Amino acid sequence: MQLQTHWELLDKHYLCLFEKTRQCDLQNLQLTFRTMQKIINQYFEEFSTMSEAAHNAVLEITACENIEMSNIIVATSFCFDELNHQPAKMNLPAPQGTFIMGGLAGYPFVGEIGLTAFSDHIPDGGAALFIFGSHIGFSRTGEIGKIRRVGQQRHTNTCGALMMVQEHLLSTSIHQIDPAAYSEFQPEFLALRLLPKAEEIRNAAVPIIKTTHLVYDEIEKEILALILNHPTLRSRFPVYILGGIVINTDETLLNYFSQKTFRKIT
Ligand SMILES: [Zn+2]
Repeated sequence: MQLQTHWELLDKHYLCLFEKTRQCDLQNLQLTFRTMQKIINQYFEEFSTMSEAAHNAVLEITACENIEMSNIIVATSFCFDELNHQPAKMNLPAPQGTFIMGGLAGYPFVGEIGLTAFSDHIPDGGAALFIFGSHIGFSRTGEIGKIRRVGQQRHTNTCGALMMVQEHLLSTSIHQIDPAAYSEFQPEFLALRLLPKAEEIRNAAVPIIKTTHLVYDEIEKEILALILNHPTLRSRFPVYILGGIVINTDETLLNYFSQKTFRKIT
């Protein structure tokens, strides 16, 4: 009897501790969410969590096409940065995994061959959803283009690769693609694409935000061209696109998404 009372008391003690920790976590989360909202709102008028945007898109497709969620396959074109592929930060509605089209900065470097492979993976009677965009980090302290990653004390550039492309395109270095230098292909290709906008970037209030929007435009243009030029994809399956800018935040905090487009490609 005494032993039971002891355990009951201990149980109560732990339950109480657990409740307190949970409340504390919840309060911290709400505080962080409000802080991040204020910071991000200065640069993006509208945004939600990445998860909310993607789930809303999938729900709309299920309603419009009268199909099950499990019959929608997702292809993504995001930068290779692990932040854009971390399941807890992204929480995409893709139980079977995502087909990854994105290379540097989110540009769909897999091209026509990649899209043809993907088109073979769409479930029978299902639909395809392409989720894509560029990305930028915002730290809890409001630094633009920087975040603190798990296990690091310092803040690192995000998108670091796009910043290097920006630095290169704004420099006076010669711009050309050397087919033999494969490691330079993706950054040089993007620098060439953005080169006509060099002055616009140079004169922007925050150049990396301008470059992030401009590279988004290039990504959307290419995704659309790939889909429209595919000989059979749209005639066999409903095809939807969801595009925007992924906003990464510190450590284990969620990714946000400033949506630019969601529509069916007919
Ligand atoms: Zn990146």
